[in-house]
Amino acid sequence: MIYDPKHECMPREELRKLQSERLIQTVRRIYDHVPMYREKMQEAGLTPEDIHSIDDLHKLPFTNKQDLRDHYPYGLFAAPMSDIVRLQASSGTTGKLTVVGYTAKDIDTWSEVMARTMAAGGATRDSIVHVAYGYGLFTGGMGAHYGAERLGATVVPVSAGNTQRQLMLLQDFGADVLACTPSYALHLAESMEDAGMDRSKFKLKYGVFGAEPCSEAMRKEIERRWQIRVTDIYGMCELTGPGVASECEHQTGMHVFEDHFFPEIIDPETLEPLPDGEQGELVFTTLSKEGIPLIRYRTRDITTILDDPCPCGRTLRRIKKILGRSDDMVIIRGVNVFPSQIETLLLEMGDVEPHYLLVVNREGALDTLEVRVEISEVMLTDEVRHLEEIEQKIKAQIASRLGVSAKVKLVEPKTIPRSEGKAKRVQDNRTL
Ligand code: ADP
Ligand code: ZN
Repeated sequence: MIYDPKHECMPREELRKLQSERLIQTVRRIYDHVPMYREKMQEAGLTPEDIHSIDDLHKLPFTNKQDLRDHYPYGLFAAPMSDIVRLQASSGTTGKLTVVGYTAKDIDTWSEVMARTMAAGGATRDSIVHVAYGYGLFTGGMGAHYGAERLGATVVPVSAGNTQRQLMLLQDFGADVLACTPSYALHLAESMEDAGMDRSKFKLKYGVFGAEPCSEAMRKEIERRWQIRVTDIYGMCELTGPGVASECEHQTGMHVFEDHFFPEIIDPETLEPLPDGEQGELVFTTLSKEGIPLIRYRTRDITTILDDPCPCGRTLRRIKKILGRSDDMVIIRGVNVFPSQIETLLLEMGDVEPHYLLVVNREGALDTLEVRVEISEVMLTDEVRHLEEIEQKIKAQIASRLGVSAKVKLVEPKTIPRSEGKAKRVQDNRTL
């Protein structure tokens, strides 16, 4: 279902006009109210009068996470505190918290884009939506909650944690939509099987999963285990939370809600914008935010913009599944490796469980990679020789497909930590 056909299926030309109007307003707002932006623009010799349309976007300076940290907590707010009705903060995966503030209108927009996200994933006003994203400063829980409620669905605000209770509630309350991270959805499926619960007692049909990379192979694995359709959803605290982009039922990449968030792909080295279809770093400009508008925010996420039409009828451009964030990229002897690439390969080979960890060490001047993968319970009784063969096979695949040599270590079932939120895929011992 398309929640907001007017905006999601807007003719591209009309959309561009709307984006231009909103960009002009946003630039005016930050120039008048955010000293950092005024200074950055002045340094670039720009005033708001130089921005006539979205085509002028490339003239504007970038913003990065460090800017938010340098102005912690409220330095980049463009609305007075009396107009801020909510604070949220990033989960702090990569360092100090970043804090964002919302005006009442920002909360309203966030609910709208999350209602679109829920609808794109399969939810309707008749749905029961089980929210197992964490509630609190992290935006996942609140975002899913407001979106499902705006859609008119019934929300079950469980938050993260206590897996047995989650399963009981999922079964008893009969949710048809589950919202959580993909790694937690997998953990729930596994726990359901371990507890001997009967899948047919659950009414689950759709999974609206995001907040961390999930390869296509991992998506299929979760869909198979839960027998549901999984859509990938994308967002970040700095931009609003979840609700920046979402897949539709065709699973052809995530439609960006471009009337509120304008995407660009840049070359992270030269900072030059790249044409649609090319892979690079995703950059976003908020077009309607009041609390903390951001201009050309560098997400550090690596993906590609797709502009070919989607059968669903939405005219919004799409981003491909996120390959990873540049912070999670491991460079092994000059070759860039993302955990999601290893994930794809492991799942496609199918000999092992979908639980893995990349361990990076430095030996002398060289970085080394060890891939730890779980074996299944049944494999515990296998001959050592057979396990060694599997290790060798994975090692050979990593070498031929990714061009790096890695050590592969099979580990016992359930020894790689499960996550209730974002899974940790890399253990980097180089900084220790
Ligand atoms: P933190 O930066 O502390 O993790 P957030 O919770 O705001 O804070 O996380 C935003 C980040 O989560 C994004 O920049 C991206 O790296 C990741 N992310 C969110 N949704 C997805 C998704 N669908 N696929 C891959 N990565 C995602
Ligand atoms: Zn679509």
